[in-house]
Amino acid sequence: AAKRGGGNRMQIFSDDMRVKVRERLAAEARLRDALAGDRDVTLPIWFQPIVSAATGEITGAEALVRMRTASGQILAPGHFIPAAEETGLIVPLGEHVLRLAVRHLVEWGDRLGYVSVNVSPRQLAEADFVPMLANLLAANAGLDPSRLVVEITETALLGSSLDVRERLEMIKSLGVRIALDDFGTGYSSLTWLQSVPADVVKLDRSFVAGLAADPRKASIIQAVLWLARSLGMSVVAEGVEDPADWQALRGLECPSAQGYLFGRPQPAEEFWSAFQDGHDTLATGRTDGDQAT
Ligand code: C2E
Ligand code: MG
Ligand code: MG
Ligand code: MG
Repeated sequence: AAKRGGGNRMQIFSDDMRVKVRERLAAEARLRDALAGDRDVTLPIWFQPIVSAATGEITGAEALVRMRTASGQILAPGHFIPAAEETGLIVPLGEHVLRLAVRHLVEWGDRLGYVSVNVSPRQLAEADFVPMLANLLAANAGLDPSRLVVEITETALLGSSLDVRERLEMIKSLGVRIALDDFGTGYSSLTWLQSVPADVVKLDRSFVAGLAADPRKASIIQAVLWLARSLGMSVVAEGVEDPADWQALRGLECPSAQGYLFGRPQPAEEFWSAFQDGHDTLATGRTDGDQAT
């Protein structure tokens, strides 16, 4: 009978699930190691440029976390952010990312306008988040806080009991700017737009890809641009890969954009040396950089 019980368990956990569970546990173990200061596993932030439509110049960058394993493999966030969210390790991970971002902002000076950092809902919900951010800024008093942008997504905050608006007002009162990430993919985008004190709207890639060939996408983008402008918010188009889409976006007077067309996420040193080498203007078709799987 005992054997039979074991057999049943075999059926419940298929090989597929077994592999997933093993990967999840491995991701979690590596995260713990990295956050505990194990130098074999690190969590660097990579930078992807954000360019101005008017000048073609790089005005800022988004910080995107990576995991470098003991064997030197670079993992994209999709491999470990879900585990971090489930275990709560996203809180120390998010703090680590913010600290690195601020360190680079200070080191690089204001030639690079701003750095945008993703903040997960769970991190935002922590009572300690705003005090931590305030301390970080106080420790870097020379830094203009508006050079730091916090990106939050709408979808993940649905159903949260947190008074998001209040939390965001506290962040804003520190002088830090707020961006709505992946805008348009949630269920209540317009409610979100009117109720959240955002400075920037990041238009999701799904509206941007194929824009040039799709008048309906163009209409939607036009409407969002108009709305954002009326509300005093700026707009960044995400995931721009195609020069035709970029041309269409400029035709619609979209103020800024991010995507492989301008540059992939790159390690900090590479991003900064390319920036200083004068690649701080609109590059096209760059394919170097992000080797993450
Ligand atoms: P996101 O914040 O929407 O970041 C943009 C993602 O789109 C990045 O993927 C970026 O590499 C990718 N991307 C940029 N341009 C293009 C393009 O032209 N085409 C395509 N196909 N993709 C493009 P990445 O780095 O894999 O990050 C995925 C997501 O993981 C991020 O989406 C964000 O939600 C999350 N993430 C990344 N870093 C952090 C972090 O430090 N903390 C938290 N909580 N989440 C993070
Ligand atoms: Mg983002
Ligand atoms: Mg995004
Ligand atoms: Mg996105």
